Amino acid sequence: MTIETDYLVIGAGASGLAFADSLIAETDAEVTLIDRQESPGGHWLHAYPFLRLHSPSAYYGVNSLPLGQDRIDGSGYNEGFYERATGEEVRDYFGRVASKLEGTGQVRVLTAHEHLGDGPDGERVRDLGTGDLHDVVARRKVVDARYLEASVPATHARPFEVEPDARVVPVNDLPAAAGSASSFTVLGSGKTSADACSWLLENDVEPDRIRWVRPREMWFDDRTYFQPLDQVGNIMAGLAADTEAAASATDLTDLFDRLEESGRLNRIDRSAPATMYRGTMLSAGELEALRQIDDVIRLGHVDRIERDRVVLTHGEIPTGAEVLHVDCTALGLADAPARPIFEPGRIVVQSVRHNSPTFNAALLGFVEAHWDDDSEKNRLCPPNPYASTTADWTRMMSRTWQTEQDWLGEPELMGWMSQSRLNLLGALPDHLGEERTQSAVQSYLAHVGPALERLERLPDATPPGNT
Ligand SMILES: Cc1cc2nc3c(=O)[nH]c(=O)nc-3n(C[C@H](O)[C@H](O)[C@H](O)COP(=O)(O)OP(=O)(O)OC[C@H]3O[C@@H](n4cnc5c(N)ncnc54)[C@H](O)[C@@H]3O)c2cc1C
Repeated sequence: MTIETDYLVIGAGASGLAFADSLIAETDAEVTLIDRQESPGGHWLHAYPFLRLHSPSAYYGVNSLPLGQDRIDGSGYNEGFYERATGEEVRDYFGRVASKLEGTGQVRVLTAHEHLGDGPDGERVRDLGTGDLHDVVARRKVVDARYLEASVPATHARPFEVEPDARVVPVNDLPAAAGSASSFTVLGSGKTSADACSWLLENDVEPDRIRWVRPREMWFDDRTYFQPLDQVGNIMAGLAADTEAAASATDLTDLFDRLEESGRLNRIDRSAPATMYRGTMLSAGELEALRQIDDVIRLGHVDRIERDRVVLTHGEIPTGAEVLHVDCTALGLADAPARPIFEPGRIVVQSVRHNSPTFNAALLGFVEAHWDDDSEKNRLCPPNPYASTTADWTRMMSRTWQTEQDWLGEPELMGWMSQSRLNLLGALPDHLGEERTQSAVQSYLAHVGPALERLERLPDATPPGNT
């Protein structure tokens, strides 16, 4: 069978849905989304039970449908900050988004349909229910919304061996398995491992029953600086701190010292050099709790888990049958290299403004609707890959600052941004009367030019052995 459509969107995760939602709000295009999974929502279908958004719900999802009520949490690690949806709430939300899009009559969502590549008459797609092959002819464009597909512990291929009598579970199984273990070894340096440790501590596991294998140390954003709406002044204060640090830094180490000093970035162990940055955030409360865990293993990555020992790149540690090993080692965000986003007949959805995945996908939908020339679209939307290291942070921030300066000359785009719920700075104009916000804006404007110049020539003084 041949299906005709204006846009074929491959991937019905957050990116594909946010792109389609924004495109159909601006055009009468017909859009077909396909996904090989049974439901829309991407990796959120495999969220571990205690996963929440690390950023506020207020600016996550698609443009046309709010997520949550913009409430301020009254207790817990997120106290005083805007609410963050649970994995289940995000899954449910994307289900509602897909129904809403289909309800417009412009969108068709085909789940359990896998994209196989080019076919003789268009894009080849397999219906995973029946096995039938279809050709999809995209009259306008094919939109690759799985280029940055996430890798999560529930579905990734474990990067280490496990002997049959060792106890290892993916993080998703931790709540079910925790009761039968007397101690825990959490594997991974990133946000998932931090979540697993926080969950154990919140469930009254004493810190000395937790061992944490952290091959690298990570920088975390402080959640204070990512609060929108009535707290948008904090975002501006964070941006001012970033540009102030960047404008004066003498090298990469000095830059991160300044960012830590300002409170913008944190690491769990201030005595250990941190070289990893993945754009995730923690609150001060979470950080304090995690600092109670003293048994941190820094012997590189895990190669093998046996019944009585864990073998790592640079050594081994004893273990036992009573220890539950918790796999939190998946990559998370994809490290795909940058390529032009707008190509003849194709759009490859990627990051533009740092750490704003759903805003970016929606932005691309808007730009596709309103500009004709691919080179203009690419000028407004240069790809900005996710960061993995401290050196990436400098590239990522510079690119955002540069791109946002280019946007200031585009009234149509600025108009859309001022209305978009996905724009974390959307409430800024309403808060410019506040003294703190105003001085942060002034500081940002004074420092962004020097910061861009300085970051371009910044020597890399990363301590050896910490990449
Ligand atoms: C654990 C975790 C928590 C996150 N939390 C936040 C947060 O709090 N705030 C934030 O801003 N960002 C967050 N992110 C980053 C980002 O917002 C999300 O990862 C986002 O959901 C990514 O959506 P996506 O559509 O790009 O990718 P995915 O969710 O990976 O979706 C890609 C889809 O493409 C489909 N697909 C792939 N290949 C094919 C094929 N050949 N044919 C058909 N379908 C295919 C897959 O089945 C999948 O459904 C988080 C990321 C992770 C991993």
